[in-house]
Amino acid sequence: MRLSRYFLPVLKENPSEAQIVSHRLMLRAGMIKQQAAGIYSWLPMGFKVLKRIEQIVHEEQVRAGHIPLLMPTLQSADLWRESGRYDAYGPEMLRIKDRHDREMLYGPTNEEMITDIFRSHVGSYKDLPLTLYHIQWKFRDEVRPRFGVMRGREFLMKDGYNFDVDKDAALHAYNRHMVSYLRTYERMGLTAIPMRADSGPIGGDDTHEFLVLAQTGESEVFFDDRVTTLTLGDRAVDYDDREAVAAVCEEFTTLYARTDETHDAGLFEAIPEEHRKVARGIEVGQIFYFGTKYSEPMGAVVVNDKGERVPVHMGSHGIGVSRLLGAIIEASHDDKGIIWPEGVTPFHAGIVNLKQGDEAADAACEALYKALAGVGLEALYDDRNDRAGAKFATMDLIGLPWRITVGPRGLAKGVVELTSRRTGESEEMTPEAAVARLVEIYAPHR
Ligand code: ATP
Ligand code: MG
Repeated sequence: MRLSRYFLPVLKENPSEAQIVSHRLMLRAGMIKQQAAGIYSWLPMGFKVLKRIEQIVHEEQVRAGHIPLLMPTLQSADLWRESGRYDAYGPEMLRIKDRHDREMLYGPTNEEMITDIFRSHVGSYKDLPLTLYHIQWKFRDEVRPRFGVMRGREFLMKDGYNFDVDKDAALHAYNRHMVSYLRTYERMGLTAIPMRADSGPIGGDDTHEFLVLAQTGESEVFFDDRVTTLTLGDRAVDYDDREAVAAVCEEFTTLYARTDETHDAGLFEAIPEEHRKVARGIEVGQIFYFGTKYSEPMGAVVVNDKGERVPVHMGSHGIGVSRLLGAIIEASHDDKGIIWPEGVTPFHAGIVNLKQGDEAADAACEALYKALAGVGLEALYDDRNDRAGAKFATMDLIGLPWRITVGPRGLAKGVVELTSRRTGESEEMTPEAAVARLVEIYAPHR
């Protein structure tokens, strides 16, 4: 993309309405625009990152054997009366009437609808296990929408629902989700710690929240800091292997890590003092096992291998897709701007032309731009007639992890400069070498 033809409305001034750094940087980098309290337009740069995050979520769900579909945002109130949640949900639910006076609602979550789909089409244990998920906009009329996309009213969520013949099978689905979530967050450059949590209004027996540590997080968390060193890395996990999946979950949940709702002061005190940490965290996901809470009242029944009709065991599992943009920025920025992890960056590299209009510099930038496209890397080429300092400031603000600087002086020696946004370190090399280096850097992320 050539910056002269892109739509990147960066702000020079700090927007006064933003209280936390991710909100401020998303506004300044021209990623979002507020349209009403907690409701945002996603401008091209923000939309691009949102799509990258969505793509990673999809890939890891499909890898775990989960099946994507798409349910509508608007739902009928009748379905929610069947589970009893139409009255229970309260003012967070946006209730709407259509022209025929039928009661509708903008879905805050989809347990009822997915259970309805299931009961209409599945009747035998032979069709299980089954996990269906979608990535769809939700609406919750939050009392205090704030912090930009972190606590919106309209927000994008991945929500998945497992259907299993018994509790053991459903707990395997729970564990599968835990592992797939760990992998998902790692690919985004995040450390998200699974913490034992409280089940809240969805209800349930077993639940973990995934928290990204950040000073601006809304949850108080208590943990043994050795959990922050655990990683999946590139180890292969066979999602069909119950023991293997359970072993990974055990590894990640044995050390103490809890939110304030489930915090146990006695257990916490037992952690060696140097590892005992109290901090704040951002909830980027949650998994639940809730058994037959919806299947029983809604009649989602299968015939098991003994010929008995039994309600299916279910769980629901959510990832805050739009909140993740804020969480990633909270975890990865400096005083100049955002620092995108390679896994989610909107462009793989920025190209800065130090002397627009100089024949050699223009030609070298064009060639580089095309060479990167040729190897499947997308560059943002700053081809504007602007001062080098202003171009650097924009690149630093929008946070592309790699920048290639091209100018007449370097070109006379046959080199350009490759700079890491994270470390600020630069290295001179030929344009071909810069392309090869970027191919290498991005290989694990494609
Ligand atoms: P919270 O405690 O932050 O209100 P929740 O526990 O009610 O969230 P869930 O029902 O678990 O939310 O939804 C799954 C995920 O959706 C959450 O882990 C979070 O990342 C995201 N999410 C929830 N509410 C919002 C919101 N208002 N804005 C943006 N993302 C949200
Ligand atoms: Mg939650």
